[in-house]
Amino acid sequence: MSQVESQVESQEKVALQEKVAAPSLDLPWREDAVALRRDFHAHPELGFEEVRTAGIVAERLRDLGLEVRTGVGGTGVVALLRGANPGPTVLVRADMDALPVDEKNSWDWKSTIAGKMHACGHDAHMATALTVARLLAQEKDTLNGIVKFMFQPAEEGMGGAGVMIEDGLLDDPKPDFALALHVWSEIETGKVAISSGPVMAAADGFKARIIGRGGHGAIPHQTIDPIVIAAQIVLALQTTISRNIDPLQPGVVTVGKVWAGSAFNVIPNEVEIEGTVRAFDPIVRATLERRCREIILELPPVFGARSEFEYLLGYPATVNDADVTDIAREAVAREIGTENVIEFEPTMGAEDFSLVLQQVPGCYFFVGGRNELIDAIYPHHHERFNIDERALEIGARAMCAAVKACLKQVK
Ligand SMILES: [Zn+2]
Ligand SMILES: [Zn+2]
Repeated sequence: MSQVESQVESQEKVALQEKVAAPSLDLPWREDAVALRRDFHAHPELGFEEVRTAGIVAERLRDLGLEVRTGVGGTGVVALLRGANPGPTVLVRADMDALPVDEKNSWDWKSTIAGKMHACGHDAHMATALTVARLLAQEKDTLNGIVKFMFQPAEEGMGGAGVMIEDGLLDDPKPDFALALHVWSEIETGKVAISSGPVMAAADGFKARIIGRGGHGAIPHQTIDPIVIAAQIVLALQTTISRNIDPLQPGVVTVGKVWAGSAFNVIPNEVEIEGTVRAFDPIVRATLERRCREIILELPPVFGARSEFEYLLGYPATVNDADVTDIAREAVAREIGTENVIEFEPTMGAEDFSLVLQQVPGCYFFVGGRNELIDAIYPHHHERFNIDERALEIGARAMCAAVKACLKQVK
């Protein structure tokens, strides 16, 4: 490609990017959704520190006439939109936290805080949910039931949803349905992916110490070498997947950290290892926990060493209710076209909305945000993560349709 050609191409790319990213002026709520997302994006806050963010969320919801409760589970916000007629209660959730990632994008609305970034799309979730509140508030005279908005802190590993549940999130009124969405960088903008059953995995962790006896690297017979034992443990842990669980059931055991030693010619006293365990099925999850424990505690004594093991239970699997998923899928298909609703390929990632779904039948669906033309191609948590902002409109329309369909269900 000549220089002129590549220049023309990059100009076209920039023009297209501006066209796609620019707020649509014909409908004020779209413009508002984009502006909200960009403001949240520019001012990211980490888990349980979402003070500015929650303040904006609460103020918006109050302005719309909702009953707002703040400080739920730390920085969480709960708001009720009461329809004119009796009916079920539908919970709509958005997460508010950013990640400790240093943004490498150069948008005008890039993060203003070094080392913090909305790199998972939670800025988009808040903008979408606030847009849903805005649109449904306009229709409240004809709505049945109650829409209960949940803006949660700390989804990224700190379990903000669980803390909100402990603080009464699911009481008074108890939701009959629960809905949430995630923008998804692997799905083209314009598509919404909805599947019933498990869509995200349970995610646990473990920590272990293998304690041997250190010494000179050239005199191994006078030591108990914990590195050789740890190496065998790392390999043996992989047999939990290949030999202990049904080959047709998904599962992952990853050792992500091995730490030991201080010099090339010294056998250390101990090795620390840490890992993550992922599964959808509770039996698989329990089997993996048991086998990890057995391997890590029972293998070292064979070599004269001992070990310590700690298993850290994380988020359970995110499981969509079949009936609620059917209701949501049908409503979303009517809103954005059947051809735009696709099945979601489950992922081994995890999500704490699973804690809500354990108590309330619901559906967690995925809104495409990918667009190669504007470089919205990077995976979630990447320093160049970005979405096509048309996902805000599509997400809001899809969520409104799903909420209204649930509100029409007889309680
Ligand atoms: Zn994330
Ligand atoms: Zn996320």
